[in-house]
Amino acid sequence: MAPTTAVRPSPGRGRGLFATSAVAAGGALIQHESPLAAIQEVGNRGEALACGHCLRFLGSIAEQLRVLTQEEPGAQVAPAVLPGLADGAGRLSEVVMCERSGEVFCSAACRDAAWLGYNRALTAAGLEPFEAFKEHAYATNCSFLLAARCLARAVDDGECARQLAALEARPWESVAVLPANDEVDEAEFRAQFVELLAESYDLLRGTLSPCVPIEAYSRLMGAIELNSVGVEVDSPVAAYVESSAEAALLPMVEAISAVRLADEQQHGCNEGEDEDELEEAEVAEVAEAEVAGAESGEAEQTSALAGAIHSGGGLDYLFPRAEGRGLFASIAACNHACTPNAQVVFLDGSCAATLQALLDIGEGDELEISYTDAELEPADRELALGDYGFACACDVCHP
Ligand SMILES: [Zn+2]
Ligand SMILES: [Zn+2]
Repeated sequence: MAPTTAVRPSPGRGRGLFATSAVAAGGALIQHESPLAAIQEVGNRGEALACGHCLRFLGSIAEQLRVLTQEEPGAQVAPAVLPGLADGAGRLSEVVMCERSGEVFCSAACRDAAWLGYNRALTAAGLEPFEAFKEHAYATNCSFLLAARCLARAVDDGECARQLAALEARPWESVAVLPANDEVDEAEFRAQFVELLAESYDLLRGTLSPCVPIEAYSRLMGAIELNSVGVEVDSPVAAYVESSAEAALLPMVEAISAVRLADEQQHGCNEGEDEDELEEAEVAEVAEAEVAGAESGEAEQTSALAGAIHSGGGLDYLFPRAEGRGLFASIAACNHACTPNAQVVFLDGSCAATLQALLDIGEGDELEISYTDAELEPADRELALGDYGFACACDVCHP
């Protein structure tokens, strides 16, 4: 199939992605794009056991529930409360450990793709320097790991090197957005990024050879800031709980709810906004579950489950998606619009992406995606777009 998109200059905006043929709303502008590299956010690793390469949920529903209830490995997640999971019905993927990198994958194919793509180069000096680099990245900014994977791939993969070189890039410290707070001294603020990058670069040099100059590392981090896409893989656990809606799931939901609450109290409440956003959808969900329960003659019990899900923060909060960042060569060329004509959709429960038309697209149209949540208030959107280094001048932002 001929490609339906091309990267071209976009007047006043550097480069952009354009349609080379007409595509009707709902159609795929890019059928399937695998990222140059993707990573799972560090904060999400305790909530979703995901493949180290493709972010697919690993193992089985029961194993994922063990992670969420924080039970010890091998502990039974009370099988009596897991209706419909007998006979391997809750199986999600294999669990393939890579001894050489210490990472876990959903398949031998992902293990090998990660090994040949970047982990072999990143562990050439042994596992310890690689672990030291990763530990620093997880403690400070996991985009360092995304950058390292990209650089390691580019060592042997000329096409990847060319695609990285084509990205809009600026030194990392110049991309960071100054907090809207008069107390912050800009020079000091930017110096912190320079220092952090130097720490990471020292560790990278110990694990990747040949390594790029520090300036190139800084520009790649800037490019990741400007061009990477948030990856979200829907939770099969949420889907399971929603579809089974068995009252027997109640104790498990309560247990997970308690874990999440304790977590939040420990780490401060930064999920508050999400909850507000969820509120309306959750109310609708509860109402729906109540109707479903009434129909099956289990109204009281089912609504107890729906109530527990609701008071626990909602299905998406109790059973989080796998979340990460990915750097996609073509999608990275898409410019932003607050009223976009395309959106990125993740495929097959993994970080592979498709670019879907939201409107009818004509040949030659520039394709635009929203870099932020389209529902955000203008002030919040301005802040979020600031992270991508620009102020939006569109009619939605400035009515
Ligand atoms: Zn995988
Ligand atoms: Zn706008």
